[in-house]
Amino acid sequence: MTLLRICGVHLAEVDYILKVSPRAKSVRLKMTPHGGLVVVVPPGFDKKKIASLLLHHEYWIKKVTAKFDLHRQTPQPLFDNGLPATIVFPDFTESWSLAYAQTGIGEVEMVERPGNRLLVSGDVANTSLSSRLLCSWLKHRAQVHLLPALEKLAAAHDFSYDSAGIRLQHSRWGSCSSRRSITLNSKLLFLPDHLVRYIMVHELCHTVHLNHSASFWSLVQQHDPLWRSNNKEMKSAWKYVPQWISAER
Ligand SMILES: [Zn+2]
Repeated sequence: MTLLRICGVHLAEVDYILKVSPRAKSVRLKMTPHGGLVVVVPPGFDKKKIASLLLHHEYWIKKVTAKFDLHRQTPQPLFDNGLPATIVFPDFTESWSLAYAQTGIGEVEMVERPGNRLLVSGDVANTSLSSRLLCSWLKHRAQVHLLPALEKLAAAHDFSYDSAGIRLQHSRWGSCSSRRSITLNSKLLFLPDHLVRYIMVHELCHTVHLNHSASFWSLVQQHDPLWRSNNKEMKSAWKYVPQWISAER
């Protein structure tokens, strides 16, 4: 089963050992594989502050815990799942860093963390399963970014369409149906801005001409004077799409 969990999980409770050290100048967090979390504080430290401190370091605590869990369950290799350490969407100046933790078998889950971090845990050595999960997440990001961008472009150039959606497609960047329903490929997120815009203009022009006639290209020309070079560039635009997506089955 593939689970996509996107939420702000809070560290409600975490077990820790409190150590008061006369040598400590400030509070310090330590994590050991067998002893768990140790909070070292100087004498006289206000213990009420510990809860907010743990919350502040929540990501680190969970990451290190997951790492220890990983070593406990699979002492030999880490994982070599070929999945990305970072994901960048250039047109939307957004980048994500990813961490993986092998914590079980048969399913994977993902949690978004503050600071654009993704924690993927579960059967992460299963590349196909993990990649499918990342692709579902990608579709979600595409909905967040591409659909409003299309709407804005349509409004600015006086186009209208009936509906718009996102799909992760293998061979099409976008499409427009006779019902003026536009579909955009999630993979557009990896393309430079001029190409994303070109695809959107192209599909919006199909709401007027549902073909590739001279009238269609003349309309495209009005809204994207560089359409010829952009159209040509699109032939090799697959190079922008990271390889891990093709692991998705
Ligand atoms: Zn077309």
